[in-house]
Amino acid sequence: MNIEVLPLPAFDDNYIWLIRKGRDAVVVDPGDAAPVQACLQAQGLTLRAILITHHHGDHVGGLKDLLAAHPVPVFGPAGEHIAAVTVPVDDGDTGILPGLELPFRVIGVPGHTRGHIAYVTTAADVEPPWLFCGDTLFASGCGRLFEGTPAEMLDSLDRLAALDPATRVCCAHEYTLSNIAFALACEPDNPDLIAWREQALALRARGLPTVPTTIGHELQLNPFLRTHLPEVRRQLADTLAQPAPDRLAAFALMRDWKNHFKPKTID
Ligand SMILES: [Zn+2]
Repeated sequence: MNIEVLPLPAFDDNYIWLIRKGRDAVVVDPGDAAPVQACLQAQGLTLRAILITHHHGDHVGGLKDLLAAHPVPVFGPAGEHIAAVTVPVDDGDTGILPGLELPFRVIGVPGHTRGHIAYVTTAADVEPPWLFCGDTLFASGCGRLFEGTPAEMLDSLDRLAALDPATRVCCAHEYTLSNIAFALACEPDNPDLIAWREQALALRARGLPTVPTTIGHELQLNPFLRTHLPEVRRQLADTLAQPAPDRLAAFALMRDWKNHFKPKTID
C-alpha cells in the first residue's frame, strides 16, 4: 500500500500529521485549519477523515473550519469531551481510515490528559507501522502530566515502548533539541544521545523536522523510556540528591525535574 505521511508545521512548534494515499488524505490533530487547507489545495487532495489524540486546543482548534469545508468523520478519544468527534474510540478499538483503507488500532495512553489515545497502523503491507501519539511520547522526551499521574504516564509509555522497534513515531511537537539538552543532563555519556544531538542540530539548522523518530531509537536515548536502567536511576539520584529506588520513583523525579529544567548552554 503506497502510504505517505508528512508533518505540516503549525503554530510555533506543532506538527499536524497528514497521511495520504493517492488523492485521499487523513489528518491528525489539526490545531489550525490553515496549513491543512493549504496542503490539500496545493497537492489536490481530498480530506477523508480526521484523527484526534486529545482535547487540547492546539490539537482540535482547526476542527470547526475544516469540517465546514470538509464534512468528514472525526475519530477521537471516547474519554474526553470533544464536541466534533463523530467516532469515539478507546483502548483496543480497531478501525479503518476512510479513503485510505488503512487499518489501525487505538492505544489508551493517559497521562498528558486523562483520555489521551494514540493510533498505530496495522496493515501488513505498511511496514514499519506508523504511530500517531500526540503529546505522549516525543522525540527524546515525553509530554507533561496535566491530568494524569506519573504511574499512568509510565504505563502509557511502556505500552508504546513495547511496539515494534521499527515503528515510526509521529509526535505532535518539535521539542527535540530542548529534549536532548535535558536527556544529556540525565545521561551525559550516552553515545547514541551525543550522536543524535549532532544529527538533530544539523536537521534544525536546515529547517527540517527531526521527526518521525522510531521506537527503537527512543529506547536507546529517551531518558523517560530508560528508568529501568540502574545507571540512569543512579545518575538521577546523584544529580538531584534524592532517592530513585525504582522505575516509578525515577520517572516521577525525572518528569518533575524536566518541568523546570533550564539547559546550561543554548544551542
Ligand atoms: Zn496537549
